[in-house]
Amino acid sequence: MRSMEFYIDGAWRQPMAPKPQPVFNPSTEEPFANIAWATEVDVNAAVAAARRAFATWGATGKAERLAALQRLITVYERRIDEMAAVISQDMGAPIDFATAQQATAGNWHLRAFAEALDGMTFERAFRPDMPQHRIALEPAGVAALITPWNWPMNQICLKVGAALAAGCTMVLKPSEVAPMSAVLFAEFMHEAGIPAGVFNLIQGDGAGTGTALTTHPDVDVVSFTGSTRAGIAISKAAADTIKRVSLELGGKSPNLVFADCDLAKAVRYGAALCFSNSGQSCNAPTRMLVERSVYDQAVEIAAETARATKVDRALNAGGHIGPLVSETQFLKVQSLIETGMAEDGRLVCGGPGRPEGLNRGWFARPTVFADVTPEMTLWREEVFGPVLAMTPFDGEDEAIALANDTAYGLTAYLQSGSPERIRRVTPRLRAGMVQINGASRAAGTPFGGYKQSGNGREGGTWGIEEFLEVKSVSGWPA
Ligand code: NAD
Repeated sequence: MRSMEFYIDGAWRQPMAPKPQPVFNPSTEEPFANIAWATEVDVNAAVAAARRAFATWGATGKAERLAALQRLITVYERRIDEMAAVISQDMGAPIDFATAQQATAGNWHLRAFAEALDGMTFERAFRPDMPQHRIALEPAGVAALITPWNWPMNQICLKVGAALAAGCTMVLKPSEVAPMSAVLFAEFMHEAGIPAGVFNLIQGDGAGTGTALTTHPDVDVVSFTGSTRAGIAISKAAADTIKRVSLELGGKSPNLVFADCDLAKAVRYGAALCFSNSGQSCNAPTRMLVERSVYDQAVEIAAETARATKVDRALNAGGHIGPLVSETQFLKVQSLIETGMAEDGRLVCGGPGRPEGLNRGWFARPTVFADVTPEMTLWREEVFGPVLAMTPFDGEDEAIALANDTAYGLTAYLQSGSPERIRRVTPRLRAGMVQINGASRAAGTPFGGYKQSGNGREGGTWGIEEFLEVKSVSGWPA
Protein backbone atom coordinates (compact mmCIF):
# COMPACT_ATOMS: atom_id res chain seq x y z
CA MET A 1 0.00 0.00 0.00
CA ARG A 2 1.15 3.48 -0.87
CA SER A 3 1.26 4.71 2.68
CA MET A 4 4.20 7.09 2.18
CA GLU A 5 2.36 8.91 -0.62
CA PHE A 6 -0.67 11.18 -0.87
CA TYR A 7 -3.50 10.84 -3.36
CA ILE A 8 -3.83 14.27 -5.00
CA ASP A 9 -5.54 15.21 -8.25
CA GLY A 10 -6.22 11.60 -9.21
CA ALA A 11 -2.66 10.29 -8.72
CA TRP A 12 -0.30 9.12 -5.96
CA ARG A 13 2.31 11.74 -5.18
CA GLN A 14 5.46 11.99 -3.12
CA PRO A 15 5.20 14.26 -0.07
CA MET A 16 7.34 17.38 0.22
CA ALA A 17 9.04 16.04 3.34
CA PRO A 18 8.93 12.24 3.21
CA LYS A 19 9.97 11.66 6.84
CA PRO A 20 8.63 8.23 7.92
CA GLN A 21 6.26 8.19 10.91
CA PRO A 22 5.64 4.67 12.21
CA VAL A 23 2.17 3.11 12.44
CA PHE A 24 1.81 0.48 15.18
CA ASN A 25 -0.12 -2.78 15.37
CA PRO A 26 -2.00 -2.46 18.71
CA SER A 27 -2.02 -6.23 19.29
CA THR A 28 1.79 -6.51 19.12
CA GLU A 29 3.00 -2.94 19.82
CA GLU A 30 5.22 -3.38 16.73
CA PRO A 31 5.38 -0.84 13.89
CA PHE A 32 4.11 -2.35 10.63
CA ALA A 33 4.05 0.63 8.23
CA ASN A 34 5.15 4.22 7.83
CA ILE A 35 3.29 7.30 6.73
CA ALA A 36 4.51 10.78 5.86
CA TRP A 37 2.90 13.83 7.42
CA ALA A 38 1.73 16.49 4.99
CA THR A 39 3.37 19.90 5.20
CA GLU A 40 1.71 23.15 4.25
CA VAL A 41 2.97 22.70 0.66
CA ASP A 42 1.22 19.31 0.38
CA VAL A 43 -1.95 20.72 1.95
CA ASN A 44 -1.92 23.59 -0.56
CA ALA A 45 -1.52 21.14 -3.45
CA ALA A 46 -4.45 19.01 -2.25
CA VAL A 47 -6.73 22.02 -1.64
CA ALA A 48 -5.80 23.51 -5.03
CA ALA A 49 -6.67 20.21 -6.76
CA ALA A 50 -10.02 20.13 -4.96
CA ARG A 51 -10.69 23.76 -5.90
CA ARG A 52 -9.98 23.10 -9.59
CA ALA A 53 -12.18 20.00 -9.61
CA PHE A 54 -15.02 21.88 -7.94
CA ALA A 55 -15.53 23.92 -11.12
CA THR A 56 -16.83 20.79 -12.86
CA TRP A 57 -17.89 18.44 -10.04
CA GLY A 58 -19.86 21.21 -8.34
CA ALA A 59 -21.84 21.68 -11.55
CA THR A 60 -22.79 18.01 -11.99
CA GLY A 61 -26.37 16.89 -11.63
CA LYS A 62 -27.86 14.32 -9.32
CA ALA A 63 -27.62 11.46 -11.84
CA GLU A 64 -23.87 11.81 -12.27
CA ARG A 65 -23.22 11.95 -8.54
CA LEU A 66 -25.51 9.01 -7.91
CA ALA A 67 -23.68 6.98 -10.57
CA ALA A 68 -20.34 7.83 -8.91
CA LEU A 69 -21.64 6.73 -5.50
CA GLN A 70 -22.92 3.49 -6.98
CA ARG A 71 -19.58 2.72 -8.63
CA LEU A 72 -17.89 3.35 -5.29
CA ILE A 73 -20.32 1.00 -3.52
CA THR A 74 -19.59 -1.74 -6.08
CA VAL A 75 -15.83 -1.48 -5.56
CA TYR A 76 -16.20 -1.20 -1.77
CA GLU A 77 -18.36 -4.31 -1.53
CA ARG A 78 -16.09 -6.35 -3.80
CA ARG A 79 -13.00 -5.47 -1.75
CA ILE A 80 -14.61 -5.37 1.70
CA ASP A 81 -12.51 -8.26 3.09
CA GLU A 82 -9.32 -6.38 2.25
CA MET A 83 -10.74 -3.39 4.08
CA ALA A 84 -11.59 -5.48 7.17
CA ALA A 85 -8.05 -6.90 7.28
CA VAL A 86 -6.48 -3.44 7.08
CA ILE A 87 -8.76 -1.97 9.76
CA SER A 88 -8.03 -4.93 12.03
CA GLN A 89 -4.26 -4.50 11.83
CA ASP A 90 -4.46 -0.71 11.93
CA MET A 91 -6.68 -0.08 14.95
CA GLY A 92 -6.95 -3.50 16.59
CA ALA A 93 -10.56 -4.53 15.92
CA PRO A 94 -10.75 -8.36 15.99
CA ILE A 95 -11.01 -9.65 12.43
CA ASP A 96 -14.59 -10.97 12.71
CA PHE A 97 -15.77 -7.68 14.24
CA ALA A 98 -13.78 -5.72 11.66
CA THR A 99 -15.55 -7.65 8.89
CA ALA A 100 -19.09 -7.69 10.31
CA GLN A 101 -19.12 -4.19 11.84
CA GLN A 102 -16.19 -1.90 11.11
CA ALA A 103 -15.82 -2.46 7.35
CA THR A 104 -19.53 -3.01 6.77
CA ALA A 105 -20.42 0.31 8.40
CA GLY A 106 -18.81 2.02 5.39
CA ASN A 107 -20.97 0.61 2.60
CA TRP A 108 -24.02 0.73 4.88
CA HIS A 109 -23.63 4.53 4.96
CA LEU A 110 -22.78 4.82 1.26
CA ARG A 111 -25.92 2.92 0.33
CA ALA A 112 -28.01 5.16 2.58
CA PHE A 113 -26.51 8.25 0.88
CA ALA A 114 -27.36 6.88 -2.57
CA GLU A 115 -30.94 6.32 -1.45
CA ALA A 116 -31.18 9.76 0.18
CA LEU A 117 -29.66 11.51 -2.85
CA ASP A 118 -32.08 9.77 -5.17
CA GLY A 119 -34.98 11.25 -3.19
CA MET A 120 -33.61 14.80 -2.84
CA THR A 121 -34.73 17.87 -4.80
CA PHE A 122 -32.05 20.50 -5.29
CA GLU A 123 -34.15 23.23 -6.86
CA ARG A 124 -37.82 24.13 -6.47
CA ALA A 125 -40.32 26.98 -6.31
CA PHE A 126 -40.51 28.62 -2.86
CA ARG A 127 -44.29 27.96 -2.93
CA PRO A 128 -46.46 26.56 -5.73
CA ASP A 129 -48.22 29.94 -6.01
CA MET A 130 -44.90 31.88 -6.02
CA PRO A 131 -42.80 30.38 -8.86
CA GLN A 132 -40.82 33.60 -9.26
CA HIS A 133 -39.17 32.77 -5.91
CA ARG A 134 -36.92 29.75 -6.09
CA ILE A 135 -34.92 27.84 -3.54
CA ALA A 136 -31.76 26.08 -4.67
CA LEU A 137 -29.48 23.80 -2.67
CA GLU A 138 -25.93 24.07 -3.97
CA PRO A 139 -22.66 22.36 -3.04
CA ALA A 140 -20.79 24.38 -0.42
CA GLY A 141 -17.38 24.04 -2.13
CA VAL A 142 -14.15 22.45 -0.93
CA ALA A 143 -14.51 20.34 2.20
CA ALA A 144 -11.82 19.32 4.68
CA LEU A 145 -12.69 15.97 6.26
CA ILE A 146 -10.86 15.12 9.49
CA THR A 147 -11.52 11.71 11.02
CA PRO A 148 -10.57 9.65 14.11
CA TRP A 149 -9.20 6.10 14.46
CA ASN A 150 -11.98 4.32 16.37
CA TRP A 151 -14.44 3.61 13.54
CA PRO A 152 -12.30 4.66 10.59
CA MET A 153 -14.48 3.57 7.65
CA ASN A 154 -17.70 4.50 9.41
CA GLN A 155 -16.43 8.08 9.74
CA ILE A 156 -14.72 8.32 6.35
CA CYS A 157 -17.75 7.03 4.44
CA LEU A 158 -20.11 9.27 6.43
CA LYS A 159 -18.12 12.28 5.29
CA VAL A 160 -16.93 11.30 1.80
CA GLY A 161 -20.32 9.84 0.80
CA ALA A 162 -22.18 12.97 1.90
CA ALA A 163 -19.70 15.41 0.31
CA LEU A 164 -19.74 13.45 -2.95
CA ALA A 165 -23.53 13.35 -3.02
CA ALA A 166 -23.72 17.10 -2.35
CA GLY A 167 -21.31 17.94 -5.20
CA CYS A 168 -18.45 19.09 -2.98
CA THR A 169 -14.82 18.26 -3.60
CA MET A 170 -12.71 17.24 -0.66
CA VAL A 171 -9.44 16.68 1.15
CA LEU A 172 -9.48 13.83 3.66
CA LYS A 173 -7.05 13.72 6.57
CA PRO A 174 -7.57 10.51 8.55
CA SER A 175 -6.17 9.89 12.01
CA GLU A 176 -2.40 9.53 12.11
CA VAL A 177 -2.93 6.75 14.68
CA ALA A 178 -4.75 4.44 12.22
CA PRO A 179 -4.22 5.84 8.73
CA MET A 180 -3.99 2.70 6.58
CA SER A 181 -7.68 2.03 5.86
CA ALA A 182 -7.87 5.49 4.26
CA VAL A 183 -5.05 4.53 1.88
CA LEU A 184 -7.05 1.50 0.74
CA PHE A 185 -10.17 3.66 0.51
CA ALA A 186 -8.34 6.08 -1.82
CA GLU A 187 -7.59 3.08 -4.06
CA PHE A 188 -11.33 2.32 -4.07
CA MET A 189 -12.10 5.92 -5.08
CA HIS A 190 -9.58 5.70 -7.90
CA GLU A 191 -10.91 2.36 -9.11
CA ALA A 192 -14.47 3.75 -8.98
CA GLY A 193 -13.40 6.43 -11.45
CA ILE A 194 -14.13 9.40 -9.21
CA PRO A 195 -12.83 12.33 -11.31
CA ALA A 196 -9.35 13.65 -10.54
CA GLY A 197 -9.29 16.24 -7.75
CA VAL A 198 -12.76 15.46 -6.39
CA PHE A 199 -11.27 13.31 -3.64
CA ASN A 200 -7.79 13.92 -2.23
CA LEU A 201 -6.07 12.10 0.61
CA ILE A 202 -3.28 13.52 2.73
CA GLN A 203 -1.84 12.10 5.94
CA GLY A 204 -0.64 13.92 9.01
CA ASP A 205 -1.11 14.99 12.60
CA GLY A 206 -3.74 17.31 14.03
CA ALA A 207 -1.65 20.24 15.20
CA GLY A 208 0.35 20.54 11.95
CA THR A 209 -1.50 19.08 8.95
CA GLY A 210 -4.93 19.44 10.55
CA THR A 211 -4.44 23.10 11.38
CA ALA A 212 -3.11 23.84 7.85
CA LEU A 213 -6.44 22.50 6.56
CA THR A 214 -8.77 24.18 9.04
CA THR A 215 -7.14 27.60 8.53
CA HIS A 216 -6.82 27.29 4.75
CA PRO A 217 -8.57 30.22 3.03
CA ASP A 218 -9.74 28.03 0.15
CA VAL A 219 -11.51 25.44 2.33
CA ASP A 220 -15.23 26.20 2.69
CA VAL A 221 -16.43 23.46 5.03
CA VAL A 222 -14.77 21.46 7.78
CA SER A 223 -16.36 18.20 8.84
CA PHE A 224 -14.69 16.79 11.92
CA THR A 225 -15.16 13.73 14.11
CA GLY A 226 -13.03 13.23 17.18
CA SER A 227 -12.49 14.59 20.65
CA THR A 228 -14.24 17.64 22.06
CA ARG A 229 -10.78 19.07 22.75
CA ALA A 230 -9.87 19.00 19.04
CA GLY A 231 -13.39 20.15 18.09
CA ILE A 232 -12.89 23.33 20.11
CA ALA A 233 -9.44 23.96 18.57
CA ILE A 234 -10.81 23.40 15.07
CA SER A 235 -13.79 25.73 15.59
CA LYS A 236 -11.43 28.48 16.73
CA ALA A 237 -8.99 27.86 13.86
CA ALA A 238 -11.80 27.93 11.29
CA ALA A 239 -13.40 31.08 12.70
CA ASP A 240 -11.05 33.58 11.05
CA THR A 241 -12.18 32.51 7.60
CA ILE A 242 -15.85 31.88 8.63
CA LYS A 243 -15.87 28.27 7.51
CA ARG A 244 -18.87 26.09 8.08
CA VAL A 245 -17.80 23.62 10.77
CA SER A 246 -19.65 20.42 11.51
CA LEU A 247 -18.60 18.54 14.63
CA GLU A 248 -19.21 14.99 15.86
CA LEU A 249 -17.55 14.76 19.27
CA GLY A 250 -17.44 12.66 22.38
CA GLY A 251 -20.06 11.21 24.68
CA LYS A 252 -20.78 9.83 28.15
CA SER A 253 -24.03 8.18 27.19
CA PRO A 254 -26.51 7.12 29.88
CA ASN A 255 -28.37 3.82 29.79
CA LEU A 256 -31.55 4.07 31.88
CA VAL A 257 -32.60 0.66 33.18
CA PHE A 258 -36.06 0.58 34.76
CA ALA A 259 -37.22 -2.33 36.91
CA ASP A 260 -40.04 -3.06 34.47
CA CYS A 261 -37.65 -4.15 31.68
CA ASP A 262 -36.31 -7.63 30.91
CA LEU A 263 -33.45 -7.04 33.34
CA ALA A 264 -31.00 -9.82 32.44
CA LYS A 265 -31.30 -9.13 28.72
CA ALA A 266 -31.09 -5.35 29.10
CA VAL A 267 -28.08 -5.34 31.43
CA ARG A 268 -26.15 -7.93 29.38
CA TYR A 269 -26.85 -5.92 26.22
CA GLY A 270 -25.87 -2.62 27.83
CA ALA A 271 -22.63 -3.94 29.33
CA ALA A 272 -21.65 -5.76 26.13
CA LEU A 273 -22.28 -2.62 24.08
CA CYS A 274 -20.13 -0.62 26.50
CA PHE A 275 -17.24 -3.11 26.05
CA SER A 276 -17.74 -3.51 22.29
CA ASN A 277 -14.87 -2.14 20.15
CA SER A 278 -12.94 -2.20 23.46
CA GLY A 279 -15.04 0.73 24.65
CA GLN A 280 -13.76 2.98 21.88
CA SER A 281 -17.09 4.23 20.56
CA CYS A 282 -18.30 7.79 21.06
CA ASN A 283 -21.88 6.52 21.58
CA ALA A 284 -20.98 3.71 24.01
CA PRO A 285 -23.49 3.40 26.91
CA THR A 286 -20.90 4.03 29.62
CA ARG A 287 -23.14 5.16 32.48
CA MET A 288 -25.68 2.50 33.44
CA LEU A 289 -28.37 4.02 35.67
CA VAL A 290 -30.48 1.35 37.35
CA GLU A 291 -33.70 1.56 39.38
CA ARG A 292 -32.73 0.85 42.99
CA SER A 293 -35.03 -2.18 43.49
CA VAL A 294 -33.05 -4.16 40.87
CA TYR A 295 -29.69 -2.42 41.23
CA ASP A 296 -27.74 -5.14 43.10
CA GLN A 297 -28.98 -7.74 40.68
CA ALA A 298 -27.98 -5.55 37.73
CA VAL A 299 -24.47 -5.02 39.14
CA GLU A 300 -24.03 -8.79 39.39
CA ILE A 301 -25.25 -9.37 35.79
CA ALA A 302 -22.94 -6.62 34.48
CA ALA A 303 -19.98 -8.16 36.34
CA GLU A 304 -20.80 -11.60 34.88
CA THR A 305 -20.92 -10.03 31.42
CA ALA A 306 -17.53 -8.39 31.98
CA ARG A 307 -16.01 -11.69 33.18
CA ALA A 308 -17.43 -13.46 30.12
CA THR A 309 -15.99 -10.87 27.71
CA LYS A 310 -12.88 -12.39 26.17
CA VAL A 311 -9.96 -10.19 25.21
CA ASP A 312 -7.55 -11.37 22.53
CA ARG A 313 -5.40 -10.37 19.55
CA ALA A 314 -7.06 -8.80 16.55
CA LEU A 315 -6.02 -11.40 14.00
CA ASN A 316 -7.63 -14.29 15.93
CA ALA A 317 -11.12 -15.29 14.82
CA GLY A 318 -13.93 -15.09 17.39
CA GLY A 319 -16.22 -12.75 19.25
CA HIS A 320 -13.60 -11.31 21.65
CA ILE A 321 -12.66 -7.66 22.02
CA GLY A 322 -9.22 -6.48 20.93
CA PRO A 323 -6.61 -4.10 22.32
CA LEU A 324 -6.91 -0.34 22.70
CA VAL A 325 -5.55 1.53 19.73
CA SER A 326 -2.34 3.00 21.14
CA GLU A 327 -0.03 3.26 24.10
CA THR A 328 -1.43 6.75 24.80
CA GLN A 329 -4.95 5.36 24.93
CA PHE A 330 -3.82 2.39 27.07
CA LEU A 331 -2.15 4.67 29.63
CA LYS A 332 -5.15 7.00 29.68
CA VAL A 333 -7.55 4.12 30.39
CA GLN A 334 -5.25 2.70 33.11
CA SER A 335 -5.06 6.08 34.75
CA LEU A 336 -8.83 6.58 34.69
CA ILE A 337 -9.38 3.13 36.24
CA GLU A 338 -6.94 4.06 39.01
CA THR A 339 -8.70 7.40 39.49
CA GLY A 340 -12.02 5.55 39.78
CA MET A 341 -10.56 3.41 42.58
CA ALA A 342 -8.93 6.40 44.32
CA GLU A 343 -12.25 8.28 44.25
CA ASP A 344 -13.99 5.34 45.98
CA GLY A 345 -15.93 3.94 43.06
CA ARG A 346 -16.71 0.29 44.01
CA LEU A 347 -14.59 -1.88 41.67
CA VAL A 348 -16.75 -4.94 41.00
CA CYS A 349 -14.82 -6.55 38.18
CA GLY A 350 -11.67 -5.97 36.09
CA GLY A 351 -9.34 -3.16 37.17
CA PRO A 352 -5.91 -1.94 36.17
CA GLY A 353 -3.37 -3.95 34.20
CA ARG A 354 -3.65 -6.33 31.25
CA PRO A 355 -5.93 -9.38 31.18
CA GLU A 356 -4.24 -12.64 32.17
CA GLY A 357 -2.14 -14.24 29.43
CA LEU A 358 -1.66 -11.02 27.48
CA ASN A 359 1.57 -9.30 28.44
CA ARG A 360 2.16 -7.51 25.15
CA GLY A 361 -0.33 -5.41 23.18
CA TRP A 362 -2.43 -2.54 24.52
CA PHE A 363 -5.07 -4.76 26.12
CA ALA A 364 -7.32 -3.54 28.95
CA ARG A 365 -9.57 -5.54 31.28
CA PRO A 366 -13.35 -5.25 30.96
CA THR A 367 -14.11 -3.29 34.12
CA VAL A 368 -17.25 -2.50 36.11
CA PHE A 369 -17.49 0.21 38.77
CA ALA A 370 -20.63 0.40 40.93
CA ASP A 371 -21.92 3.31 43.05
CA VAL A 372 -20.36 5.94 40.78
CA THR A 373 -21.64 9.40 41.74
CA PRO A 374 -21.76 12.66 39.73
CA GLU A 375 -18.79 14.04 41.67
CA MET A 376 -16.49 11.32 40.35
CA THR A 377 -14.26 11.57 37.28
CA LEU A 378 -15.73 8.34 35.87
CA TRP A 379 -19.15 10.00 35.75
CA ARG A 380 -17.93 12.94 33.68
CA GLU A 381 -14.94 11.89 31.60
CA GLU A 382 -15.05 9.79 28.51
CA VAL A 383 -12.77 6.79 29.22
CA PHE A 384 -12.73 5.36 25.68
CA GLY A 385 -11.94 1.95 27.15
CA PRO A 386 -14.02 -1.06 28.33
CA VAL A 387 -15.12 0.58 31.59
CA LEU A 388 -18.73 0.68 32.78
CA ALA A 389 -19.95 3.01 35.56
CA MET A 390 -23.15 1.99 37.42
CA THR A 391 -25.39 4.16 39.60
CA PRO A 392 -28.75 3.54 41.29
CA PHE A 393 -31.77 5.86 40.99
CA ASP A 394 -35.16 6.27 42.62
CA GLY A 395 -37.96 7.13 40.21
CA GLU A 396 -38.25 8.60 36.75
CA ASP A 397 -37.41 12.21 37.63
CA GLU A 398 -34.13 11.28 39.26
CA ALA A 399 -33.27 8.94 36.38
CA ILE A 400 -33.76 11.75 33.86
CA ALA A 401 -31.86 14.29 35.95
CA LEU A 402 -28.91 11.89 36.28
CA ALA A 403 -29.02 10.99 32.58
CA ASN A 404 -28.85 14.66 31.59
CA ASP A 405 -26.17 15.51 34.16
CA THR A 406 -23.33 15.52 31.64
CA ALA A 407 -21.63 17.99 29.32
CA TYR A 408 -22.33 15.58 26.47
CA GLY A 409 -25.58 14.58 24.74
CA LEU A 410 -24.89 11.99 22.07
CA THR A 411 -27.05 8.88 22.64
CA ALA A 412 -29.36 7.96 25.52
CA TYR A 413 -30.35 4.31 25.92
CA LEU A 414 -33.64 3.40 27.56
CA GLN A 415 -34.78 0.01 28.90
CA SER A 416 -38.39 -0.32 30.00
CA GLY A 417 -41.37 -2.59 29.42
CA SER A 418 -43.82 0.29 29.70
CA PRO A 419 -44.77 2.10 26.46
CA GLU A 420 -46.25 4.98 28.53
CA ARG A 421 -42.97 5.43 30.38
CA ILE A 422 -40.97 5.30 27.13
CA ARG A 423 -43.19 8.04 25.64
CA ARG A 424 -42.83 10.18 28.80
CA VAL A 425 -39.10 9.81 29.29
CA THR A 426 -37.80 10.03 25.69
CA PRO A 427 -38.64 13.71 25.05
CA ARG A 428 -36.98 14.71 28.34
CA LEU A 429 -33.60 13.19 27.42
CA ARG A 430 -31.16 15.82 26.13
CA ALA A 431 -29.48 13.66 23.51
CA GLY A 432 -29.33 13.59 19.73
CA MET A 433 -30.28 9.92 19.61
CA VAL A 434 -32.40 7.66 21.84
CA GLN A 435 -32.22 3.88 21.48
CA ILE A 436 -34.94 1.90 23.22
CA ASN A 437 -34.83 -1.72 24.42
CA GLY A 438 -31.88 -2.72 22.24
CA ALA A 439 -33.18 -1.20 19.00
CA SER A 440 -30.45 -0.51 16.41
CA ARG A 441 -30.37 2.64 14.35
CA ALA A 442 -31.67 2.53 10.78
CA ALA A 443 -29.41 3.40 7.83
CA GLY A 444 -29.86 7.02 6.78
CA THR A 445 -31.15 8.28 10.14
CA PRO A 446 -29.29 11.32 11.53
CA PHE A 447 -26.26 10.66 13.76
CA GLY A 448 -25.10 13.44 16.06
CA GLY A 449 -25.39 14.98 19.46
CA TYR A 450 -26.59 17.83 21.69
CA LYS A 451 -24.36 20.00 23.86
CA GLN A 452 -20.63 19.21 23.76
CA SER A 453 -21.22 16.10 21.64
CA GLY A 454 -21.25 18.34 18.58
CA ASN A 455 -23.32 20.53 16.35
CA GLY A 456 -24.00 18.65 13.15
CA ARG A 457 -25.72 15.53 11.87
CA GLU A 458 -24.30 12.80 9.70
CA GLY A 459 -25.97 10.12 7.61
CA GLY A 460 -28.67 10.18 4.92
CA THR A 461 -30.33 13.45 3.91
CA TRP A 462 -29.16 15.27 7.05
CA GLY A 463 -25.56 14.34 6.33
CA ILE A 464 -25.77 15.60 2.73
CA GLU A 465 -27.33 18.89 3.88
CA GLU A 466 -24.21 19.62 5.96
CA PHE A 467 -22.37 20.07 2.63
CA LEU A 468 -25.00 22.26 0.92
CA GLU A 469 -25.58 26.00 0.78
CA VAL A 470 -29.11 27.39 0.45
CA LYS A 471 -29.67 29.94 -2.31
CA SER A 472 -32.83 32.06 -2.38
CA VAL A 473 -33.64 33.48 -5.82
CA SER A 474 -36.28 36.16 -6.45
CA GLY A 475 -37.42 37.36 -9.87
CA TRP A 476 -37.04 33.98 -11.58
CA PRO A 477 -38.55 34.14 -15.09
CA ALA A 478 -41.82 32.26 -15.25
P1 NAD B 1 -8.65 13.48 18.26
O1 NAD B 1 -9.63 14.54 18.42
O2 NAD B 1 -7.35 13.60 18.94
O3 NAD B 1 -8.28 13.26 16.72
C1 NAD B 1 -9.27 13.12 15.73
C2 NAD B 1 -8.74 13.66 14.44
O4 NAD B 1 -8.55 15.06 14.56
C3 NAD B 1 -7.39 13.10 14.00
O5 NAD B 1 -7.38 12.99 12.61
C4 NAD B 1 -6.42 14.18 14.47
O6 NAD B 1 -5.24 14.20 13.74
C5 NAD B 1 -7.24 15.42 14.23
N1 NAD B 1 -6.89 16.57 15.06
C6 NAD B 1 -6.53 16.58 16.36
N2 NAD B 1 -6.31 17.84 16.78
C7 NAD B 1 -6.55 18.65 15.71
C8 NAD B 1 -6.47 20.06 15.51
N3 NAD B 1 -6.13 20.90 16.48
N4 NAD B 1 -6.78 20.55 14.28
C9 NAD B 1 -7.14 19.73 13.28
N5 NAD B 1 -7.21 18.37 13.41
C10 NAD B 1 -6.92 17.85 14.62
O7 NAD B 1 -9.48 12.19 18.64
P2 NAD B 1 -9.09 10.66 18.55
O8 NAD B 1 -8.23 10.41 19.71
O9 NAD B 1 -8.58 10.31 17.21
O10 NAD B 1 -10.55 9.97 18.67
C11 NAD B 1 -11.19 9.75 19.90
C12 NAD B 1 -12.23 10.81 20.20
O11 NAD B 1 -13.13 10.99 19.11
C13 NAD B 1 -13.11 10.47 21.36
O12 NAD B 1 -13.24 11.59 22.20
C14 NAD B 1 -14.46 10.12 20.74
O13 NAD B 1 -15.55 10.28 21.56
C15 NAD B 1 -14.50 10.98 19.56
N6 NAD B 1 -15.36 10.41 18.50
C16 NAD B 1 -16.61 10.96 18.27
C17 NAD B 1 -17.43 10.43 17.30
C18 NAD B 1 -18.79 11.00 16.98
O14 NAD B 1 -19.34 10.71 15.93
N7 NAD B 1 -19.37 11.83 17.83
C19 NAD B 1 -17.01 9.35 16.55
C20 NAD B 1 -15.76 8.82 16.81
C21 NAD B 1 -14.95 9.37 17.79
